[in-house]
Amino acid sequence: MDLNLNSKVFIVSGGSKGIGEAITRAIVAEGGIPVIATRSREATEVLARELQADGKEAYYVIGSLEEPEQCRRVVEETVARYGRIDGIVNNAGVNDGVGLEAGPEAFRRSVGHNLYHYYDLVHYALPQLKAARGAIVNISSKVALTGQGSTSGYAASKGAQLALTREWAAGLLPFGIRVNAILPAEVMTPLYRKWLDTSFDDPAQKEREIVSKIPLGRRMTTAEEIAATAVFLLSDRSAHTTGQFLVVDGGYVHLDRALT
Ligand code: NAP
Repeated sequence: MDLNLNSKVFIVSGGSKGIGEAITRAIVAEGGIPVIATRSREATEVLARELQADGKEAYYVIGSLEEPEQCRRVVEETVARYGRIDGIVNNAGVNDGVGLEAGPEAFRRSVGHNLYHYYDLVHYALPQLKAARGAIVNISSKVALTGQGSTSGYAASKGAQLALTREWAAGLLPFGIRVNAILPAEVMTPLYRKWLDTSFDDPAQKEREIVSKIPLGRRMTTAEEIAATAVFLLSDRSAHTTGQFLVVDGGYVHLDRALT
């Protein structure tokens, strides 16, 4: 299936590691142009060099997206370079374990890390998204539906991303801009690895426990499987899909526990 992404321009926040990296690679594989917006300079330079050596077009803007000015800069540099923005993948985030005991300052910082830049990037890119009748994909999390028990800032942000998906899908109907969310559950990425290694005495045992409860194939979802859904949602092959929450998790959240 040709997704018709040829020469279309997509901003991917956190687009050089984990799920974001897979989405960047999938956009390139489909002929699109990724603009990686992230704070991870080293990983991004390595990825961009690799893609460019392969004759592909890719651009990046380094900086921390908590600052609205950085989100504005990402959009301005993208427009200056390519003159268009066809879509945004809001993906950058961190499950930082800021729970009820952590206090108001930590909670606000956590929401700043995880939520505000989802709004800010779309806000600054709105004129280009309207011109292109573009698409927005918000990467949320199963935590928005299930909770986790010790991560108030992250959970609040992931839930708000779902609310914004519906809110923007409704508000942007007149402009033909589609807005959808993907909810991963268990995907091995640098973030996930760090969570396992720092949260449990026996990370390998914990990993086996989690994997044994994933109904489809008793395995984790791959970042590439999340990315395949993302590029479909960016493409006009999903032209009549908007305001949807796609839970790409091998049935982890919704299927009967008795199956595992
Ligand atoms: P990851 O491996 O840590 O990659 C995320 C990338 O985003 C990193 O390069 C990170 O930079 C960057 N980033 C994070 N916050 C940023 C900020 N405020 N400004 C600029 N860059 C920032 O994470 P991942 O596991 O791929 O997760 C990607 C998304 O999927 C997140 O929204 C996460 O909540 C969601 N998700 C993941 C899973 C999973 O199982 N992995 C499950 C549910 C949801 P640094 O390297 O500097 O931190």
